[in-house]
Amino acid sequence: MKKYRGVLVALILCLFTGCGATIRMSNKKISRYFTAREALYSATAKRYNMSNIPLSKATDNIYYCAWRMDKVRRFLGTPIHVNSWYRSPRVNRKVGGVSHSYHVQGLAVDFYTKKNPKYVYNKLRRSRLSFDQLIYYPRQKRFHISFRRNIRQERRQAFVKY
Ligand SMILES: [Zn+2]
Repeated sequence: MKKYRGVLVALILCLFTGCGATIRMSNKKISRYFTAREALYSATAKRYNMSNIPLSKATDNIYYCAWRMDKVRRFLGTPIHVNSWYRSPRVNRKVGGVSHSYHVQGLAVDFYTKKNPKYVYNKLRRSRLSFDQLIYYPRQKRFHISFRRNIRQERRQAFVKY
């Protein structure tokens, strides 16, 4: 029995972590234009000393989302400043986010650019780029954009929220 103990411990750990490699807060690139820090940093998590480390499924989604965000970045031709990307379920509850938020899945990004936000909004809205939702917050001069793993299910909804 003793010689199987290590295997058993590994299996149990695997069940809880999902086996996949997760990402840590670092300057390591997760795509052409984005770093792990940009995807995981949360002011709320920092303030309340909460962990904001994704499990393997959300990690996969973050890489996928970064690949999609690279296309947005390339299309806009200007750096994208991330306000909020991944949120652990706890962090999401703390910020008052809806429980089915795409941020929890790692598939939504809140961002701004140095370009005129109205111009950016219209440029994205009229583009051939796909997304599930694009929300423009004119008062904060920010955007929320979300994606789906199945691109054909994306709604391409764009609207302004005052
Ligand atoms: Zn958002």
